Amino acid sequence: SQDIQVALVTGGNRGIGYELVKQLAQTGFRVLLACRDPKTGREAAQKLKESNLDVSFLRMDVSDQDSIRKAADEVNEKYGRLDVLINNAGVYFDENKQLLTMEPELLENTMDTNFFGVYYVVRSFITLMKKQGYGRIINVSSEMGAMRDMSSRGTGAYRVSKLAMNGLTQLLAAELQGDIKINAVCPGWVSSDMGGPSAPKNPKQAAQSILWLATIGPDGPSGGFFRDGKPLKW
Ligand code: NDP
Repeated sequence: SQDIQVALVTGGNRGIGYELVKQLAQTGFRVLLACRDPKTGREAAQKLKESNLDVSFLRMDVSDQDSIRKAADEVNEKYGRLDVLINNAGVYFDENKQLLTMEPELLENTMDTNFFGVYYVVRSFITLMKKQGYGRIINVSSEMGAMRDMSSRGTGAYRVSKLAMNGLTQLLAAELQGDIKINAVCPGWVSSDMGGPSAPKNPKQAAQSILWLATIGPDGPSGGFFRDGKPLKW
């Protein structure tokens, strides 16, 4: 029915994104599993549908503005609403690399996905939220993007992309009006393809620590940066 709330998760085919899709669907959202690769995206959505969850695949490459616009048009036509948007898709190309010696394309590609991806996704989908005067946007960030931690060497591309994401989150919060909230959250160190096998948190726990921000009320925070429900200094 028209009353079911719609949530969208970018990079929903694996890792933390897949768990976010699953848990949102388990709490009653109609969830769009957005993913750049149709094969893994359809397979992941199918697996969740088989457990009777309301999950649909949506093709969207967040580093491609055209793909983002097409996805937003499709959501507008098919569902006409968007209540929760989770910018989860991210890349981490520069482990043990330094800004001045890495291929500059690594920095550009990281910014394209982790920063501009978020900016263009929000730009394209905000119309749906503005139309209903309601929306919850969550940016999956990292404590590696905390300003106070910018003095050590290495992983500079990833870190500057998340620092920029945190700043964007605050700036957009100041621009947004009505009951539309945007927050950034660090999931902690999580076992996934990105986090590796020795991380202390699993994607299920990570998703749990993120999703409270999807259902905050009108008095809830906006422009914040959190981990495990607590504000992070950055
Ligand atoms: P994974 O590497 O397991 O998953 C990354 C996801 O992002 C995949 O679904 C991938 O899709 C998707 N993605 C990458 N580029 C694009 C793109 N251009 N368009 C659409 N989707 C894309 O990572 P995690 O699940 O661990 O990470 C999820 C988020 O959490 C990231 O933003 C990450 O920075 C953040 N994070 C993770 C931490 C950790 O310890 N794991 C710690 C702190 C933050 P595909 O399958 O097509 O590659």
